[in-house]
Amino acid sequence: MTQFRRQALALLKKFYGYDTFRPGQIEIIEAVASGRDAVVLMPTGGGKSMCYQMPALLADGCAIVVSPLIALMDDQVAALRANGIPAAALHSNLSEAESKTILSKLVEGHIKMLYVSPERLMLDIERWRGVVDISLFAIDEAHCISQWGHDFRPVYTELSRIKDVFPDRPVVALTATADRLTRDDIARQLRLVDPLKFTGSFDRPNISLKVMPNPGKAGRISAIEQLIDRYPDDSGVVYCLSRAAAETMTAELRRRGHKAVCYHAGMSSAERARSQRAFISGDAAVVCATVAFGMGIDKSNIRWVVHNNLSPNIEAYYQEVGRAGRDGMPAEALMFYSLADMHTLRAFADESGRQLVNREKLDRMLRYVQSPVCRRRTLLSYFSEIYDHDCGNCDICNNPPRRFDGLIETQKAISAVIRCGERVGAYMLADILVGMSRTDIRAAGFDTIKTFGAGRDIPLKKWNDYISQMIQYGVFEVAYDEGNHLKVTSFGREVLSGHTSISLSDVVVDTPKKKSAKEKSTVPPQVDLLSSLKRLRREIAQKEGFPPYLIFSDATLADMAARKPRTISQFSQVFGVGEKKCARFGVQFLDELNKFLK
Ligand code: ADP
Ligand code: ZN
Repeated sequence: MTQFRRQALALLKKFYGYDTFRPGQIEIIEAVASGRDAVVLMPTGGGKSMCYQMPALLADGCAIVVSPLIALMDDQVAALRANGIPAAALHSNLSEAESKTILSKLVEGHIKMLYVSPERLMLDIERWRGVVDISLFAIDEAHCISQWGHDFRPVYTELSRIKDVFPDRPVVALTATADRLTRDDIARQLRLVDPLKFTGSFDRPNISLKVMPNPGKAGRISAIEQLIDRYPDDSGVVYCLSRAAAETMTAELRRRGHKAVCYHAGMSSAERARSQRAFISGDAAVVCATVAFGMGIDKSNIRWVVHNNLSPNIEAYYQEVGRAGRDGMPAEALMFYSLADMHTLRAFADESGRQLVNREKLDRMLRYVQSPVCRRRTLLSYFSEIYDHDCGNCDICNNPPRRFDGLIETQKAISAVIRCGERVGAYMLADILVGMSRTDIRAAGFDTIKTFGAGRDIPLKKWNDYISQMIQYGVFEVAYDEGNHLKVTSFGREVLSGHTSISLSDVVVDTPKKKSAKEKSTVPPQVDLLSSLKRLRREIAQKEGFPPYLIFSDATLADMAARKPRTISQFSQVFGVGEKKCARFGVQFLDELNKFLK
C-alpha cells in the first residue's frame, strides 16, 4: 500500500471511525488530491461526500462545497463538526454578522470545509482570489447545471467561472442522477480538464424492494403499521401523490396513535420546517409527504419508504427509495399501485408540456411494477447497469409469480370489450366478466352481451390484475381522451384470433400475518440491547440539540450491540466511532452497555 493510501486510511479511522473505503472512493480521492478534476456518479447514500471530504482533509487550505440546499448544508456541517472537522456554511439564512465571522475565519485558514450556495459563491469568488487558500471545489447535485438533467438550475451554469478565477484548483462534480448525456454536459460546462469519470453501481442491496397492487385503504394502513411496528425506534416515509392524500394519511396514522407529521409544498415554510425537524430529531416516526419532501434530507436511519401510489417515472421512484437505509443497514421499500394512479399520472404527463417523454417514462414505471422479473434487475437495467442474477431481496425473488397460459382469459376480455362497443373502462370490464349486475351496467345494456359473466369462475380481484397485465402487454389501449375506455389494439385482435400466445401471472400478495402476542414477547435480547442504545442516543440527541443519527448511525449502534465493548479502546474499534465521538460519547455508551451486560 502506498504512503498516500495509508495516510488516507488513518484519517478515515480517526475522523469517521471507518476501516475501509467503498469501491471507487480511494481512486477518486487520489485523483482529486493530486489536482485532477473528477465527475462522480453514485447513488444516494453511495458515499459521495467522502470523495471531496477526504482530499480536503489531506490538503492544506479550505475546500469549497457548492450545494443547492440550505437544509442539507447545515446537516453536513453538523455531521462534520461532530467528527471534529472544522466546517461552516455560508448562505442567505445567516445574519450579516454571522457571515462576517465565517468569512474572517475562512481568510485566517480556520475552516477546512465551507459549504456555500451557488449564488453566494458567485458573489464572493473574485474577492477570494489570492486571499483564501482553497484546496478544491466540490459541486454537489451537479446535474443541476445541465438542461438535460431533471432539475436544471440556471445559477449553476455560472459555476463555469470557477475555472477562470481558480484555474489550478481541482473541481469535483458529484451527482446521484445523470445519464451519460448529462454527465458529459456537466464536465463540459464546468470546463473540467481531463476529469476522472467514475460511475458507481446503483445497486442498493440492503433495500428490499416490494410492489403490490393497492389493497385498499385498510390494507395500506395495515401494511404501514406493520412497518412502524417492525422498526419501533426508527422512522419511515410515506410518499403520497397529492397534498390532500398526505394530510389524510397523517391524520389517519395519528388517530391510530402513531407519531406522524405531514410535509408538502402547500404548507408554510415554518410548518414544513417544523415537520422536518420533528422527523429528523426522531420525535416523529413517520412523515407523510409529497415529492416535495426529501431533497434536503440526509437522515441515515430511515428504515422504510412507502409509495402510496405509482411514481411518475423510475428515476424519481428510485431516488425516493434511496432515501431509505443510507447507513447500509436493512431497509424496505414498498409501493402500492393501481390503474387509477396510472390515469392520474397520465393526465399529469399530458399536461406537462413534455407529453411524449413523460408518457414513455410512466410506461417504463408501469412495466416495472407489473413485470414478473426480479425488481432489482429491472431497475438496474433501466440505469444501464449489467446485473446478471436475481437479487434474492425483492418480492419477485421471494415469491416468483406463477405464469400460466392466459389465452382464454384474454380472449374473453377482448370479446367483452368489443361487444360493449369499446365503451368500458378496465374496472367495469372486470365487473362485466364476473357478471355483476349493477345499475350502470344494466342501463348500458352490458348485462345482455354474450360474455356477461363469462369469467365468473375467476374472482373479481384477479380479473382486475389480469386486465392490468393485458393493458401492459398491449392488448388494449386506454383512451385517455374518452373516459379511459379500453380499445382493442391490432395486437389484441391477433390474440383474439388465436395467432399469438399470451401468459398471465397471478400476483402473489403475501399479507404478513399479524404477530401473535406470544411471538411479540420473544424478542431476542440483542434487539433489547439495541433498543436501549437507541434510547440513549435519543436522550443525548435531545440534550445536545442534535439529530440522533448524527451522534451515531444505526449501523454503528448495531455493531456496538454485537461487539459489546467493555473498554474505551474496544469502543473505539466499533464501526463509525472516530476519535472525537469516542471521547465525547464513549463513557455514556459504555455505561449503558455495562448496565445491560449485568
Ligand atoms: P451520498 O452523498 O452519496 O448520498 P453520503 O456521502 O451521505 O452519501 O454517505 C452515505 C453514508 O455512507 C454516510 O453515513 C457516510 O458516513 C457513509 N460512508 C461513506 N463512506 C464510507 C466508508 N468508506 N465506510 C463506511 N461508511 C461510509
Ligand atoms: Zn430480486
